[in-house]
Amino acid sequence: MSYTADLHTHSPYAHGTSRRLTFENLAKWARIKGIDLLASGDFTQPVWAAETRAKLRDTGDGLFERSGVRFILGAEVNCSAVHNGRRRRVHMLMFAPTIGAVERVTAALSSKGKLEWDGRPTIRMTPRQLLETLLGVDERCFVIPAHLWTPHFGLYGSKSGYDSLEECFEDMTDRVHAVETGLSSEPAMNWRVPSLDHVAIVSFSDAHSPEKLGRELTVVSGQPSYDGLLSALKTQAIEYTVEFFPEEGKYHNSGHRKCGVSMSPQETAARGERCPACGRKLTLGVLHRVEELARRRVETRMDADGLTHGPNGRPSFRMLVSLSQIIAEARGVGLGAKTVRQAYLAMTDALGSELDILTAAPIADIARAAGEKVADGVSRVRRGEVAIEPGFDGQYGSARVWPDELQGATEDGPWRRLM
Ligand SMILES: [Zn+2]
Ligand SMILES: [Zn+2]
Repeated sequence: MSYTADLHTHSPYAHGTSRRLTFENLAKWARIKGIDLLASGDFTQPVWAAETRAKLRDTGDGLFERSGVRFILGAEVNCSAVHNGRRRRVHMLMFAPTIGAVERVTAALSSKGKLEWDGRPTIRMTPRQLLETLLGVDERCFVIPAHLWTPHFGLYGSKSGYDSLEECFEDMTDRVHAVETGLSSEPAMNWRVPSLDHVAIVSFSDAHSPEKLGRELTVVSGQPSYDGLLSALKTQAIEYTVEFFPEEGKYHNSGHRKCGVSMSPQETAARGERCPACGRKLTLGVLHRVEELARRRVETRMDADGLTHGPNGRPSFRMLVSLSQIIAEARGVGLGAKTVRQAYLAMTDALGSELDILTAAPIADIARAAGEKVADGVSRVRRGEVAIEPGFDGQYGSARVWPDELQGATEDGPWRRLM
């Protein structure tokens, strides 16, 4: 038994998120995407907390339910405090087993930040102080450092992060059981860092709109329950994670968005960490930071099912491109085109969830439902045959399933074939 979990989600009350993030739409899109367990999101925001109590049914196992989709009470906060001589800004996911625990956590944090102002509030606490506060409320509360490597708000970020979990959590390090990779890194990059050997490497969407749910997710072993999830994280009982191609994430390379400059770690090693256009320091990306903290190389291999394995027995992962992207490219139209949305909904109606279509549905069935070109796109993605232009300094990278059909594409253009 296993279930799919996306535990980094938001409400409409977090800055920059869609007003369509209602519980009705969260449940509807979880079913379309193939997600069994979602985070309720933003539980410190009072309006959304009231909505959560009204719209979700307590299932008595530490989880909640709406329209057949399970929910765990979860939120994200921005921990902002001076620690070890530096100003730290670190995003943390936090989880609680009961509405009562949520109310006590919210009360404990209310003097530390403006909770009604932003669903992802800034809290004047270190991540360690947050963890201590949560465990003081309920021993079953837990945290997951969010998008671990992003420059500005990742616990390992180049701008204000730490160099190890121990530096951040000190005597409480063994109470941290998992870290979130973020869109710009995949598990194999994290396996290179020894201080992450004892935590589960998990992936979630950080969706700001319902359609982005599950773009990264974690397939957890067992049946959904609060205690079962916590123990699966402690023992790394994870079947696999679903990942973006890490190059697609918006902080993969180092660079300057305004100057249009993007550099790999090899290029910054050769040319320095200053922008060749404006002379200021580049925003050092995830790949740069991984190279800094990595202490070993890791060989990986992809099996016939598209799962990537390491030599270390840790949970495997698969990299996917969204079904909408495949449809849009197959039809030669933009991702936002109405026909893409129509074809997407027709396919998920006929064949099952997006995750099923991308990973398991027979290619012949996909061809019958959506045509040969889309079916070819899905099998290319399953084999990892995708070309990516890497993201940098806040700009998303872009994936191409059929890079040769791009106008002006050349062998040594910006498009890099991964496999
Ligand atoms: Zn965040
Ligand atoms: Zn510049």
